[in-house]
Amino acid sequence: MKSRFWKLLPTVVLVAVAVLALPFVPGQSVSPRNVQAETPGNSIAAMELAERQYRHALRMNPLCEETYAKLLEVAGDRPIPKDSLAYRAARELLSRRFLEYETRRFIVLSDAEPRWSRSQAEHLERSHHQFMRFTNRLGLRPLPLQHKLVCVLFERESDYRAFAAEQDGIHDPWIVGYYSPRHDRVVFFRTADESGREVPENISIATTVHEAIHQLHFHTRVKSVNVQYPLWICEGIATAFETDEPGHAFGPDHEFIPRRTRFSTLLAADELLPLRELVVLTVMNGASSEQVSAMYHQSYALVVWLNRFRRDGLRDYLNAMLIEPPGHVTEKRQLEIFEQAFGDVDALERRWLDHEQRNLAALGQEDHEAARRALTAWTPSCLCARGTGTFDNHEGRQRLVIGNLNNRSCAH
Ligand SMILES: [Zn+2]
Repeated sequence: MKSRFWKLLPTVVLVAVAVLALPFVPGQSVSPRNVQAETPGNSIAAMELAERQYRHALRMNPLCEETYAKLLEVAGDRPIPKDSLAYRAARELLSRRFLEYETRRFIVLSDAEPRWSRSQAEHLERSHHQFMRFTNRLGLRPLPLQHKLVCVLFERESDYRAFAAEQDGIHDPWIVGYYSPRHDRVVFFRTADESGREVPENISIATTVHEAIHQLHFHTRVKSVNVQYPLWICEGIATAFETDEPGHAFGPDHEFIPRRTRFSTLLAADELLPLRELVVLTVMNGASSEQVSAMYHQSYALVVWLNRFRRDGLRDYLNAMLIEPPGHVTEKRQLEIFEQAFGDVDALERRWLDHEQRNLAALGQEDHEAARRALTAWTPSCLCARGTGTFDNHEGRQRLVIGNLNNRSCAH
């Protein structure tokens, strides 16, 4: 079947003229000669030019519906190129034994077992599918990808550790996968060194999905790369997508039991952070493992509840962050943006926790048993919460909270 991209080519003149009409687009790079394209090659070039101009316009005005609709017209259904700076950088670092597995939206470079590599690529595609479903339901404006997103897979843990340390500055031994914003790639491995066994499938899948969601946030511009977001929204959304059943629907509409049960335990023990403090946290330098862990589970539960009962507020919050001036956002301003979207933070906390307390009281003995078992299971989280405080290091690091590949005790 002919793709929409090709069907749209004849309309390229109109599209390019529309771009010229945008008041905030620098017009010098588009001349009337550009839009009088007659050959397919010229038409494609004009489409690409139009796309660049629309993207530029959306950087200036991220919430412009009209420009967003036009961008979708020219780029929403076109083939996504493999080439990118991130791809070339990864390709240069990896030997020829790393094979390439391409899906519609991802390019995976892997020296790992082929079937596992292909299944990882499928998990990434599923993450994209579920993420788009969530953003569209919320009424956000996710941008089409400009190029395929890069994933690197290692068969052996030692190769992964060496790469993570040398190339991405990640040295922590319990990180089993991460997203590097600086080099724009997600990285995972299949086989643990000490045991020689594969990373347990549930850990591997949840980690992959979690990191892919971080990567997708930036590439779809649901989050701006220029603004410092608080941890609750970054990790709340990423954890809300975690799943160990990627063949089924997942995301904030679907509970992930390890997160839910650990949140319930914190709630029952009255160990939650006050919401007023949680919503302004951007780093947790010096925090204990328990505090970091609590932040993840609490952020998970908050995002799930907001998605269910304050969906408009969640959309407004994410849109408001998009138009914040670049850089650090003060705690005062973080709270202002939060309250503009959701109302008084203390009143919201009371409503939210009333709801959660009723759920907790309704739990039966079986549920408590399930919760107890889940506490011996695992839940992933990122290192960003205890990052160095530099803006680059806030995203995309992964750790196991309870248990790990070799049954060693973890910090939690
Ligand atoms: Zn994360």
